[in-house]
Amino acid sequence: MSTTEPSIFTRIVSREIPASIVAETDRLIAFHDIAPKAPVHVLVVPKTPEYTNVADLAVGDPALLAELVTLAQQIANEHGGQFRLIFNTGEKAGQTVFHVHAHILIGDLGEDPRADFQ
Ligand code: AMP
Repeated sequence: MSTTEPSIFTRIVSREIPASIVAETDRLIAFHDIAPKAPVHVLVVPKTPEYTNVADLAVGDPALLAELVTLAQQIANEHGGQFRLIFNTGEKAGQTVFHVHAHILIGDLGEDPRADFQ
């Protein structure tokens, strides 16, 4: 038996804590990020807590990763169809919740953040 606490996203999946849900399928849930970094900032999260990051998901269930990307496009289609998809992978990359999730950023995003690299 695992003694690991359920992630904040597992608690959203189980409706233990509220979220502004925008889409849900058998295996995924999507809701607004609580601290938006874009005019529209939605997280798409597999319901299973099994995968920590996108690399684990790609190996363990590539079909679920494809479903996630497809749902991201469907959500973006409600806002013009163009979007940035971000998977922070590892603490040094900014990951704070170790339950795989994609950030969908939509709207006027300004410059590509890669332009800041020196
Ligand atoms: P990351 O830093 O890539 O792991 O992303 C975690 C994201 O989850 C951050 O953008 C947070 O703002 C977001 N977040 C944390 N708690 C909640 C919550 N209760 N509802 C919605 N978004 C959340």
